[in-house]
Amino acid sequence: MTKIMVSISPGHSDNHPGACAYGYREHDIARSITNPLFGTKYLNNPDGPVFVGWFPWLQEDKLWLEKTYTTQLRDRMRVMNSFRSHVAVEIHLNAANSVQANGLEIIYLSTKGKKLAECIQETFSTEPQTNNELTTKHLLLSWRRLISMATLGRYLYFLKATKMPAIIFEAGFITNDNDRNFLLTESGQDIMRNILVKGLSLYAERYL
Ligand SMILES: [Zn+2]
Repeated sequence: MTKIMVSISPGHSDNHPGACAYGYREHDIARSITNPLFGTKYLNNPDGPVFVGWFPWLQEDKLWLEKTYTTQLRDRMRVMNSFRSHVAVEIHLNAANSVQANGLEIIYLSTKGKKLAECIQETFSTEPQTNNELTTKHLLLSWRRLISMATLGRYLYFLKATKMPAIIFEAGFITNDNDRNFLLTESGQDIMRNILVKGLSLYAERYL
């Protein structure tokens, strides 16, 4: 089986953090989910995906840091494409006027992107989440939908600009108490990473 290489990045930036609710910022939560994917736990996983990404905040060089923070999305995509990875994933959180809106949602553009989204959906449905103590205390994120960019009716630059099959992984709603509280916990973030990693491995097994 080919080892799958994944370009991954949290949506938005420090200066433009995306959706904000109850003092929390979308970019910060997306970053907390994404960062550990570059840590030893995932690096040492022999069968798991290899993550490459756009991580200006992990760079020690301050000049580079300042430069990248102000870099336009277009340049950011150029870097993402330069990795020549198999697939690309961007982590986001949804927001809605209704505080009831909740759940995980994946947006795709291409046919291969859809296949990747389906692999993650499949993993989500089979993941034994009920064993987790957290999920008995809070409502676990439910599955919301798997939707194409066309059906959604929004122009998503990330999906348009990536050369490889790509998805936007909306980990939950920042505006929903259960989703937000779940995604703010270490174990909630870990569950999201596991779903991603397993879904990506499933895609590699089937399509690479
Ligand atoms: Zn977003």
